[in-house]
This record gives sequence, C-alpha cells and structure tokens, in this order.
Amino acid sequence: MKQKKNQVHIIFLFVLLFIFVFSFGCVSNDAVASETPLKPKTLDPGTITVGVVVDTDSYSVTNEEIITLISTADSILQNNTKLKFSLLGIQRVDYSALQEKAKKDRTNPIVLLYPDLSKQPEYVVILLSDSTSASFGGYSYSVKRSGFCNRCSKPDSNSQEYVAVGVIDWTHMYSSCGYNRSDSKNLVHVSDVSFGGECRNQNGVKCIYNEKFGYYQCNDSETLNSLYNSNKYYFAASTIVHELMHFFGEGVLSDHFGTQGCNKWMNGTDYGAYSLNIFQSYAGTCPYLYEVIEKSYKECG
Ligand SMILES: [Zn+2]
Repeated sequence: MKQKKNQVHIIFLFVLLFIFVFSFGCVSNDAVASETPLKPKTLDPGTITVGVVVDTDSYSVTNEEIITLISTADSILQNNTKLKFSLLGIQRVDYSALQEKAKKDRTNPIVLLYPDLSKQPEYVVILLSDSTSASFGGYSYSVKRSGFCNRCSKPDSNSQEYVAVGVIDWTHMYSSCGYNRSDSKNLVHVSDVSFGGECRNQNGVKCIYNEKFGYYQCNDSETLNSLYNSNKYYFAASTIVHELMHFFGEGVLSDHFGTQGCNKWMNGTDYGAYSLNIFQSYAGTCPYLYEVIEKSYKECG
C-alpha cells in the first residue's frame, strides 16, 4: 500500500499460527475474562458473527464505543457486499495474562475466550496495542478450531474449521504528522512538518493539531476531508474490514487497492489513479476481494 505507508498495513501470521494451533489441542474453561453478552443473531443468513475482545492493559473502551465501532465496520462491509456483521459479545481481558495462561494450559487464547463452541464468533476482533498493531494499525491470522464451522470458507482450501482473528490498534492515528516512531507504542511529536514517509510519502507537509482526535495530522485538504477522518470510529472500523478481507486474497501486497496484483484482478483497471476517498471506501482493499468473500460464504451443516 504505497500510498498509505503508515496506515493500514497487514501482516499474516499464518505460519506462526499454524505451528501454534496445531501443536495444542486441549480446552480450558478458566478464561480470565469478563463478558458482556449482547443479543446474539448467530445464524442469520448473510451475517458474519463478531466477538470483540478488549485488552484492558492497552485501552479503556466503553461498550457504546464498541457497538458504534462494529456498526461502522458493518456499514463499510454492507457498502461493498451483501454480508453484514453481527456483534455477539464483548470481553475485557488482560491479554498478556491470557496468553500466559494459554501457554501454561497448552491451548490458544481464542479457546480460553470462547470455551463453548456454540458461542464462538466467526471473526474475533481484538483491540490490542502490540508492536505490530501499533506500527501498522492492525494484522490478522487464523486459528484452527476443531468442530467449528465458519460460514466464510477459505477460498484456497475451502476450509470452514477456523476462526478469523483481527488485532486492531484502537487508538491508531490516521495520517499522523511530525512523529518520532522509534517506539511504535509511544509516538512522540517532534516536528511541525511531515517526514519519514508521513502524509502519503510527502515530506515537509505542515502538521495541524486535530482537537477532536487529540493528535497532529497532515494539513492537506484531501486528508482532512477523507472518509477515514469523518469520525473517531471510521479508521479503526475500516481496519477491521480490511483485516478480514485479507483471508480472501492471495497475499498482503496484491490484496491492497491500487497494487499491480489488484489491477490485474480488476481487468487492468489502474486503481492507483483513483482518489483517496475511493481507496478508503473499499477500506484500502482490492474490490475483487469483496466478490471472493461473497462467493466463499456458505451456510454450515
Ligand atoms: Zn492490508
């Protein structure tokens, strides 16, 4: 995503994950989580069930904020597909403690969070600041879950026995300007103008303080009037959609809007020439992937 170097980029952790997931199989029921169940609409056709997990060590986020976040992500998904998100519940955990416990129990944090298979969401959104999410805005991986059926089958293997996981940095700054990034989790504002690839690779753009968001952004009208800048939810909501869509592409680089791989899929259309808001309306994802997820969707049983 050459246009968006410091925004939504992805890293697939398939290899790590598969090693991890295939190594452990036991189930424990002692998740250190507090749960807020919502009205489940588990098996409505055309829905993708979502569970949100907040790392209490990273953020304090209210239920209302999470509901608005997922509803914003839902509107982005619905603008591009016939599918919808259905929020099943919210859990708050100390995620590193949960990881420790999972390691000790030789299982996966996802299994500890959802010991009951019937309550397992198809897409787990973890609001967590780690070095990767803080650098790129988010990343995704899958967890094999025996006996679980995900209606978004993976197009490469046709597998439905998996859970999609998106790790999202809830407070990720959109179009941030003038920051020293040597510690990705604690950016320090050091300059009045952009540098080091900020502002879509334009150095020297003046920075402006956004009172609403509480950080400095690139002072260019395209950024300031963009969809991602419309409210505090839109950017994180787009990242939630973006991360899910990677499961339906062929690789991090070609999955992105405007890349050569994407342009090829789109019959040679040069999306690199399109405006920022067109890019953002697809959550930075190649439009082709939305067709793939729709075709991959199939009911279970
Ligand atoms: Zn990506």
